[in-house]
Amino acid sequence: MSVVGIDLGFQSCYVAVARAGGIETIANEYSDRCTPACISFGPKNRSIGAAAKSQVISNAKNTVQGFKRFHGRAFSDPFVEAEKSNLAYDIVQLPTGLTGIKVKYMEEERNFTTEQVTAMLLSKLKETAESVLKKPVVDCVVSVPCFYTDAERRSVMDATQIAGLNCLRLMNETTAVALAYGIYKQDLPALEEKPRNVVFVDMGHSSYQVSVCAFNKGKLKVLATAFDTTLGGRKFDEVLVNHFCEEFGKKYKLDIKSKIRALLRLSQECEKLKKLMSANASDLPLSIECFMNDVDVSGTMNRGKFLEMCDDLLARVEPPLRSVLEQAKLKKEDIYAVEIVGGATRIPAVKEKISKFFGKELSTTLNADEAVTRGCALQCAILSPAFKVREFSITDVVPYPISLRWNSPAEEGSSDCEVFSKNHSAPFSKVLTFYRKEPFTLEAYYSSPQDLPYPDPAIAQFLVQKVTPQSDGSSSKVKVKVRVNVHGIFSVSSASLVEVLKFEENEEPMETDQNAKEEEKMQVDQEEPHAEDQQQQTPAENKAESEEMETSQAGSKDKKMDQPPQAKKAKVKTSTVDLPIENQLLWQIDREMLNLYIENEGKMIMQDKLEKERNDAKNAVEEYVYEMRDKLSGEYEKFVSEDVSMCLPTRCLLRAALNVVGTFKQYYSDSQPIKMRFQESEERPKLFEELGKQIQQYMKVISSFKNKVHFFFPTVTLELMSICSPIISKPKPKVEPPKEEQKNAEQNGPVDGQGDSPGPQAAEEGTDTSVPSDSDKKLPEMDID
Ligand code: ATP
Ligand code: MG
Repeated sequence: MSVVGIDLGFQSCYVAVARAGGIETIANEYSDRCTPACISFGPKNRSIGAAAKSQVISNAKNTVQGFKRFHGRAFSDPFVEAEKSNLAYDIVQLPTGLTGIKVKYMEEERNFTTEQVTAMLLSKLKETAESVLKKPVVDCVVSVPCFYTDAERRSVMDATQIAGLNCLRLMNETTAVALAYGIYKQDLPALEEKPRNVVFVDMGHSSYQVSVCAFNKGKLKVLATAFDTTLGGRKFDEVLVNHFCEEFGKKYKLDIKSKIRALLRLSQECEKLKKLMSANASDLPLSIECFMNDVDVSGTMNRGKFLEMCDDLLARVEPPLRSVLEQAKLKKEDIYAVEIVGGATRIPAVKEKISKFFGKELSTTLNADEAVTRGCALQCAILSPAFKVREFSITDVVPYPISLRWNSPAEEGSSDCEVFSKNHSAPFSKVLTFYRKEPFTLEAYYSSPQDLPYPDPAIAQFLVQKVTPQSDGSSSKVKVKVRVNVHGIFSVSSASLVEVLKFEENEEPMETDQNAKEEEKMQVDQEEPHAEDQQQQTPAENKAESEEMETSQAGSKDKKMDQPPQAKKAKVKTSTVDLPIENQLLWQIDREMLNLYIENEGKMIMQDKLEKERNDAKNAVEEYVYEMRDKLSGEYEKFVSEDVSMCLPTRCLLRAALNVVGTFKQYYSDSQPIKMRFQESEERPKLFEELGKQIQQYMKVISSFKNKVHFFFPTVTLELMSICSPIISKPKPKVEPPKEEQKNAEQNGPVDGQGDSPGPQAAEEGTDTSVPSDSDKKLPEMDID
């Protein structure tokens, strides 16, 4: 069973595996542990990762990158709208309303969903892991930003399915980092002691995330998260790009933004320059040859100037830091360490801002690029039954408050209630109680849309079906279980109708309401991974009770009178019936479409494989032809027989024929005998020496037979004749050996002049017929008596 963690970055992806020796980040076929989040579509195949990155400029319109944040977003989403102008490829509105990516693939215009494109990337990472593990990879843990909403999370989950992966957990990036930090720490405070609070800061290419976590032995609890969802390395690149567009525009009269290729080249150079400035404070050049209209451009920049230009961006570093502390009700002094990861935290000014805010040195004990993937692999190992890992419990948080809304017939309107507050522990389940006579709908939504980095606060609608009144016509008690699952996704996971049966006063109740509550409690317990959460379940129970109060009005006020509090005291028997729930999730892909995408991904993988095999074969033949071309006029030259040399192309023709694989094969077979003769020539002196030794030995044997054991001699003679006669009498082979061969053969006389030599002629004729064709030509040198 595979144990794999995947960091799906905006710019760079990583895959790590857990093995007996520990966690290992896997290198791809370019020996690079980083795989660019880039896919290039061609007329015959797709290129994914580094191979695609090299086509960003040459195949700009069909090379897709920067799609991570399109997950679960409509084409009309303001975020998508804003991104459009930065993209070299086209995005379109899909029939579902979601954002689609339009490219030319296999000579056809194709629209892919974001899930499909991410699945391509995941397939590549899966393949990378498989090539190292040498077994199929299915189970994995994939990272997502901690601020992702349900629609975004579900979309990534769908992508994992399309790629044939079984995602055991969508893990918040900052939580993965926290796990990678905490699991190896041997000196964490004991459970009963004050926890160690550590802040994790991740600034990547597209976003900035901060979390504060409390660590005790074997345990990590996320206390709060904060983020700036658009602050990342690319914003700093943009500052440089805008600066040079303006400067070069004036200096060279170029409208750079009108030419996407030029803009892409400038972006690449600006990113390099930004990285250089992290290590070097002096003036640095930026030069691009033949940039636009054959004009070479050049300019300079230094760290000081760059910082001035990034003032606005740098001012955005502090607010999330302040926010996590406020949310967790911690002071700066309560923070044990501030760990930074993510490429953009390498910018000295960013580091300085963070360090200054906390008033302490930053810790860089984690690998800034690989901490997320390593944390995911660790989580996968913890979740996988195939792996034994040190006990370590992880409690995450709900990033936005979640509320439920429902129709309240009694109040002739709707009621609502917050079911999960911000920073509530996750995963977590709660049981709510409603009194209803008929099916009803629960509408889940994010209740503070102003804090949501997403335009639609709706999460989903859940229709609780098959609700019927009690036999006496009163409202039924309906228990609804709501949860934020291990992926951070909200759902109404189950609903049941509690049928109440009255009892005789003295009859022993089989199952009381109290018992039923215990049962719920158990259900909640099962959902809660940690002891601490079980304590938190009390408010959940209270919430369920308060829901019960509120919604009872919705059913019927008589209901309350029918069931006075005393009635609950072991006077009733209850039985529960599970109720079906129909989900209407925001932007959910239906199963049929998902299956189609899975099938299409499989076909595309096959197509890529075929194309790769074709290319590999072509390269092998090409390499062979080049090698032969050189050798035919070099070390093989004297072994080329005239007939073959007639059909061998000249050097020029060889080159021209490189695209014709069939022709290569012909050359290949034509040239085999030449190669063979060359090898034989190389080996001949050694073989002759060996042959001479053998013959001398046989001669000794023969003479000893002659002298001592006379009666054996006729037997030996007969044996010798039976071996040699077929060789001598075999007709001459059709293929003439080259002149050089004959000359050699003539020089090879019998060793020590012993016995009757068949002479040069016999050397040509004396072949062993047991091996046909090419091997025939082996025998001239192996001329023996
Ligand atoms: P995200 O986390 O937003 O999904 P990501 O994980 O792909 O994105 P990272 O790989 O963590 O992002 O970081 C990439 C960013 O870090 C890029 O903007 C890159 O230019 C920047 N970066 C990398 N090294 C340096 C450096 N030495 N100095 C400045 N910036 C750097
Ligand atoms: Mg990242």
